[in-house]
Amino acid sequence: MNMLPVVVGVLSVNCYIYYCEETKLCAIIDPGANPERIMDLIKKNSLQPMYILLTHGHFDHIGAVKELKELTGAQVAIHREDEGMLTDAVLNLSAHFGRETVQVPPDFVLEDGDILQIGKTSLKVIHTPGHTRGGVSYLGDGILFTGDTLFRGSIGRTDLPRADFSELIQSVNEKLMVLDNSLPIYPGHGSPSTLKLESITNPFLIGVESE
Ligand SMILES: [Zn+2]
Ligand SMILES: [Zn+2]
Repeated sequence: MNMLPVVVGVLSVNCYIYYCEETKLCAIIDPGANPERIMDLIKKNSLQPMYILLTHGHFDHIGAVKELKELTGAQVAIHREDEGMLTDAVLNLSAHFGRETVQVPPDFVLEDGDILQIGKTSLKVIHTPGHTRGGVSYLGDGILFTGDTLFRGSIGRTDLPRADFSELIQSVNEKLMVLDNSLPIYPGHGSPSTLKLESITNPFLIGVESE
């Protein structure tokens, strides 16, 4: 598997390093905190970061963006609809949780269907709004990073500002569940799963499939 996980921060965000085995180029997905631990892993594996990619703009997923950009020179990208969250402590909810943080504006913004080439591998951007308006999942080589859209046995919170429960369910059913159901999913928090397992066991998805 060309991916290295590292759990970061007080809210235990899964940061993932997705890399090309041949070229050692990589993308850092959701560096929420602990930049030194993320850098250790990158150095230990002789990886070269090209991108810092966010699944969405909540503070627990973006907290080490600025520092890692300075350390690696990697380009920061987030979906257009979550762009403002990188530099606004109210929008990224850090002010609300009493740990105010602002990062740097993105180098470029993402749209549904964009493909990011990382050496000989790639990540495809799948816009999955609902938890936030600009929430995305990233589809790599036999792996799906779902951020706070889809968890093992659960889905992302929709009681927060700019979130929408029915939009989130629609995103999961129409954008994720249509993919190869043997795909492993790596969520923003908690353990990995597969699309198939979630389609059978996830209480938020059973019985709400669109007819
Ligand atoms: Zn979130
Ligand atoms: Zn989160």
